[in-house]
Amino acid sequence: MTLENLTLETPYLSLDDEFYDFTDPIPLNEPYLISFNSRAAELIGLDSKSHNSPHLIALLNGTYKPEGSRPFSMCYAGYQFGNYAPRLGDGRTSNLGSTLGWNLQLKGSGETLYSRMADGRSALRSSIREYLMGEAIHHLGIPTTRALGIIGSKTKIIRDQMENAAIVMRMSTSWVRFGTFEYFYYAKEHDKLETLAEYVINESYPHLQNDDDRFYKMFCEILERTARLIAKWQGIGFCHGVMNTDNMSVEGLTIDYGPFAMLDDFNYGHVCNHKDRVGRYSYAEQPNISYWNLTKFSEALSPIVSKERMQKKLDDFGNFLYPDAYIEVMRKKLGLAQELDNDVELIEELLVALQDAYVDHTIFFRTLSHYDGDRSPLYDISMNPVVVDNWLKLYDERLLQESQTQSERQKTMLSTNPKYVLKNYMLQEAIRLAEEDDFSMIETLLYIAAHPYEELPEFEDFAKETPEEHKNIGLSCSS
Ligand code: AMP
Ligand code: MG
Repeated sequence: MTLENLTLETPYLSLDDEFYDFTDPIPLNEPYLISFNSRAAELIGLDSKSHNSPHLIALLNGTYKPEGSRPFSMCYAGYQFGNYAPRLGDGRTSNLGSTLGWNLQLKGSGETLYSRMADGRSALRSSIREYLMGEAIHHLGIPTTRALGIIGSKTKIIRDQMENAAIVMRMSTSWVRFGTFEYFYYAKEHDKLETLAEYVINESYPHLQNDDDRFYKMFCEILERTARLIAKWQGIGFCHGVMNTDNMSVEGLTIDYGPFAMLDDFNYGHVCNHKDRVGRYSYAEQPNISYWNLTKFSEALSPIVSKERMQKKLDDFGNFLYPDAYIEVMRKKLGLAQELDNDVELIEELLVALQDAYVDHTIFFRTLSHYDGDRSPLYDISMNPVVVDNWLKLYDERLLQESQTQSERQKTMLSTNPKYVLKNYMLQEAIRLAEEDDFSMIETLLYIAAHPYEELPEFEDFAKETPEEHKNIGLSCSS
């Protein structure tokens, strides 16, 4: 299908007008295309020729509206760093409508009813980060939003300094957040909770539509998906950075990419958001915070679902749903096909060893994926080979209890432990070049992002350890 034939629907507008506000995107000056993601285009049935369509830049700039599009911004609230903010909402986003199950929106398209004194714009750098990381996270097998394309412009915005504004077109199978429910709960409009729950069920859990117990089951599914999502983040070394309840998806997706990071050297306490002084959203805390967020979410649902039943499910999250999901992820990373009780200790010992070894998280698991009894490649990448050696003794013993062959194990591990992840220093370099109108590295990273498990000899440099001076870059929230 050509871009000109794209037609959109707006089911969210069937809700009453407290759920949204109509928002006309405010175009950027002198927009130019930075990148078009043909993989995302395929998802909405667009052919690759759309790349050359005269309407593409206009679509991303909000001046070309596909048939059926009626742009709007969504209303939501949320707990930000533990404090309730009664009204947030899409402060810089207009939703154009949906097709084939994907809801399209422009982020950075100007002020909305929910902008709260801010400018409704997104800086080029944060737009590039969001554009690329959604793709990387998807190809790592983790549920996420995607992005269709990105435009730059000559529109100036004020951040720490003057910067150029950009717009990224994001796509998601759902944009509803825990905070969307919170808005109506704290506004004491409890009838709206039911309306919203029905909407979420229709959009995301259609198999529950005719179930008498559907609201409770919706909560259970959201909780289970969240458990699996966070387990995957922990396994891959992804730190979200701003796990406020408005950034928690009711489909268990990774949403709202801000000051995120992939771990460089394994550091359990790593905090990627430099505004997060107490480490509320540190890597180690992500499972606890997701539990806290689910607890808050359950409060918001309490007028329509029994509190006791939700509490029981929350207990399950802590007792076994999250731990089991995490252990499953880690067993796969370690190439363990059997499930043995003391695997938990093996994993705990590994985390201690990784911390003490000052070893790159991604490189460690990739190197371990080739392990054949020769420990030297693992010593070579560690600052403290003794702790690695001690752990490998446990690992060797554990492997004896496996019935699969070494090559079977290596095969699973090589398709589980990526060779390429997008680290912040790579994104920074792509941004630096883009600010000089060189977008080539964005294309390189987009390609790498889509092939995380392959050997790509021409991109070997991107699999190397993060240069010392670029490790643990701290970033700020909205920009
Ligand atoms: P974020 O941290 O990007 O998820 O944003 C948190 C909230 O602030 C959301 O409601 C955003 O829409 C809003 N926001 C962030 N940056 C801006 C901006 N430049 N203009 C208007 N609203 C913004
Ligand atoms: Mg957000």
